[in-house]
This record gives sequence, C-alpha cells and structure tokens, in this order.
Amino acid sequence: MKELLIATRNKGKVREIADLLSSCGIKVTSLLDHANMPDIIEDGTTFRANAAKKAVVIARHTGLAVMGEDSGLEVDALGGRPGVYSARYSGEDATDASNNALLLKELAGVPHDKRTARYRSAIALADKDSLVDVVEGSCEGIITTELRGSNGFGYDPLFLIPAHQRTFGELDLAVKQTMSHRAMALRAFLKLLENYLVRTQKP
Ligand code: IMP
Repeated sequence: MKELLIATRNKGKVREIADLLSSCGIKVTSLLDHANMPDIIEDGTTFRANAAKKAVVIARHTGLAVMGEDSGLEVDALGGRPGVYSARYSGEDATDASNNALLLKELAGVPHDKRTARYRSAIALADKDSLVDVVEGSCEGIITTELRGSNGFGYDPLFLIPAHQRTFGELDLAVKQTMSHRAMALRAFLKLLENYLVRTQKP
C-alpha cells in the first residue's frame, strides 16, 4: 500500500492522525488533497457506523485504502449529547466557537462533579472491495466553566484532563497524542493495518 487516504477535511484530525502514523512509512493524504470527492452524508446513529460509511464511500470512489474516522463528545449531564452530532451541535453552520458557547450555556449551573464527559473515536479501514474492520478509543474528562487554551480544535479548550488539571486546549499536542480517544483508536488501527497488509500484500 503506497497511500492511505483519510476520509476527512478536518485539519485538526488530519494533523493528529498524520503525526501518529508518521513512523509507518505510508503516505497519508486526506480529502483536502483529492479533487471531486463525493459528499458523505453522516446519517449513522453511532460513531462506528459513520466511520465505516466514510471509509467505504471514499474507498469505492477512489480504489484506494481509506481510513474513516468519526468522533465526538458525550456529556453525561446531557444524556450523552452531542455525541454523533458534535460537529453540528449548534446548527448546520456551527463553528467550534458556537458549539463551545452552546455547551457552556447548556451546562450553566451544573456542578463540577456532574460535568463528566468523554471523547469517543471510531476508526474504520476499507478498500475498494469492502469494509475491513472498525476499532474504537475513548478519553475521559470534565467540561470546564470557561474556555482555557488555544491548542487542539473543537471542544478542546473546554475538555479538562483531571490527571493534568489542564484542558486539551492548554496541553501540548504531544501530551494529547499519548492519551486522546483518537490516539487510542489509532493504536488499535495500526494493528488492524498491519494484519491487513500481511494478508493483502504480494510477497
Ligand atoms: P466528525 O467530523 O463528524 O467526526 O466531527 C467530530 C466533531 O467532534 C468535531 O468537529 C469536534 O467538534 C468534536 N471532536 C472530535 N474529536 C475532537 C478532539 O480531539 N478535540 C475536540 N473536539 C473533537
């Protein structure tokens, strides 16, 4: 396999995934590097279903090996919302800023010990013939009462890691890469990819 295409246009995700795959010797590209890619309607009710759909649609279209990643934030005080709707939590034109503002508003008055949350990530591998498999990772945190730091993307300035007493917005990317939901899922993905390459590559 010469190239692994990540089925996303999210620059934050691309940066984290490419960084964690940098030692594999595989060229990592994303939808930002390929013209005329089909739109993917994320209509699954689980991260797994959406990750699989992204990978399968783009693998069929390009004939390449494709990684589909779907992730989001589950907040316990909100019954697990925004979940699979994390990117569009505050509406179709949502931005990271509008999503974070809505999250703070919905959690106004909720005490620290009830502000528990987790990020989840599902990562799928597909080739032109079929879905190979889907793996998952998660990362526990607490939603802060104000934005802290400007590293990362999405909800990172509100996502506090208790062991560090810092948000992902305050922590260096290198620290996030040791514990994030995406890093955990990528660890499992690397094993999946290794097995796939052994099965499919000609001697
Ligand atoms: P997706 O592109 O549908 O998977 O959207 C995932 C959304 O979940 C992102 O747009 C963010 O709002 C949120 N999200 C997922 N992973 C992270 C992360 O590592 N940091 C911050 N927000 C994240």
